[in-house]
Amino acid sequence: MSTDAVPPPAKPPGGHIRLTSHSAGSDAPALRWGAPTAAERGPLVGTTTKRAHRNVIGTHSGAYGVYRALAVAAGKLSREHRADLTNTAPTDIIGPHPQWADPETIVSLDPWGAMVADVFAREIADGVDIRPTIAVTKAQVILPEVHDAIGKARLIPDGRVLLGNGAAQVTKAAIEPVWYLPGVARRFGCSETDLRRALFEETGGMYPELVTRSDLDVFLPPIGGQTIYVFGDPRALADPGVELTARVHDECNGSDVFGSDICTCRPYLTHAIEECIQGAQRGGVGLVAYFRKEGRALGEVTKFLVYNARKRQAGGDTADQYFARTECVAGVQDMRFQELMPDVLHWLGIRKIHRFVSMSNMKYDAITGSGIEIGERVSIPDDLIPADAQVEIDAKMAAGYYTPGQVPGADELKKPKGRGLHG
Ligand SMILES: [Zn+2]
Repeated sequence: MSTDAVPPPAKPPGGHIRLTSHSAGSDAPALRWGAPTAAERGPLVGTTTKRAHRNVIGTHSGAYGVYRALAVAAGKLSREHRADLTNTAPTDIIGPHPQWADPETIVSLDPWGAMVADVFAREIADGVDIRPTIAVTKAQVILPEVHDAIGKARLIPDGRVLLGNGAAQVTKAAIEPVWYLPGVARRFGCSETDLRRALFEETGGMYPELVTRSDLDVFLPPIGGQTIYVFGDPRALADPGVELTARVHDECNGSDVFGSDICTCRPYLTHAIEECIQGAQRGGVGLVAYFRKEGRALGEVTKFLVYNARKRQAGGDTADQYFARTECVAGVQDMRFQELMPDVLHWLGIRKIHRFVSMSNMKYDAITGSGIEIGERVSIPDDLIPADAQVEIDAKMAAGYYTPGQVPGADELKKPKGRGLHG
């Protein structure tokens, strides 16, 4: 690496620049990824205050680490602030599961991340700034689609999973990305050196330690994390004898939050929640894992550019051009790469998904390829597909997505089914 590839870091207010490219002091705790106990694995230390304690590349909070920097720059946050973890312990204990002790099974999150205040209490008391990368809490979720399903008697409140007011009781966990670089490289079939170099160069040289500190194996990447919602008893997730209904969902802000009708994301998400509630009421357990991978991990700007390109192309918005238009703008059809997705399922101890609420062959292949059995595949009911989303669903079925029905033929895929730009 030539040194001119590294931009000079800006001088932060009040003192010398904290460089990261020198070896840590002997105060940094050792890390052994995939070790069977927390003590043998060791704590992740991503603190920016005591450099000598750091044993990872990057900082905590994923993409929000940048906002933390803004808060420090603006003088709103003390750089020395340490989280007070009093009363923040998980509401439900997840694991430890045997999957945690295999360095290849989980490579993109810290299985011990929810319990650091407990398992590393001594180190924290000794002054090491160790932060949770996972938080587990309880909530009630109220969705208009669930109210609708109650109105149509598809769902019946039982006072346990689904309350009389239409609120579903859930346990949820927020999970920050923690990448064990040798394991991530193996998942993608590249060398660790190539992975580190691409991560360094394609972020504009954001983390020089990726290429200067080969002794640091763990990277806290500045990307979105994931959230899981569990309907029923979370401990049952690890019991293959208990029926598990599950969906893994990739973020789509336009549909999930704002109800845009060009895709099936929110209808599929709320359909999965309905299936999860029904499953939990049957004595099973339901799981929705929600990944922050907006617009096939291409981001919303790319996604909206593609929408325009689809709707303005000669012949109108057709399924046969659906993937081509994305590739024209982004260079690839999809950047979600499901290779790391099954990690959260292994964190939860899952061995079998009885009802998998997804049509995606990529998700199915990633999960089964990681050793988790999938029973039935549940596709979205036709009457939940918005009219403008027919282009997407036809294109995906033609590309190999699971459907119990007819796969659309070449003539069908050429028909303009999408609305024009101006309605
Ligand atoms: Zn969508």
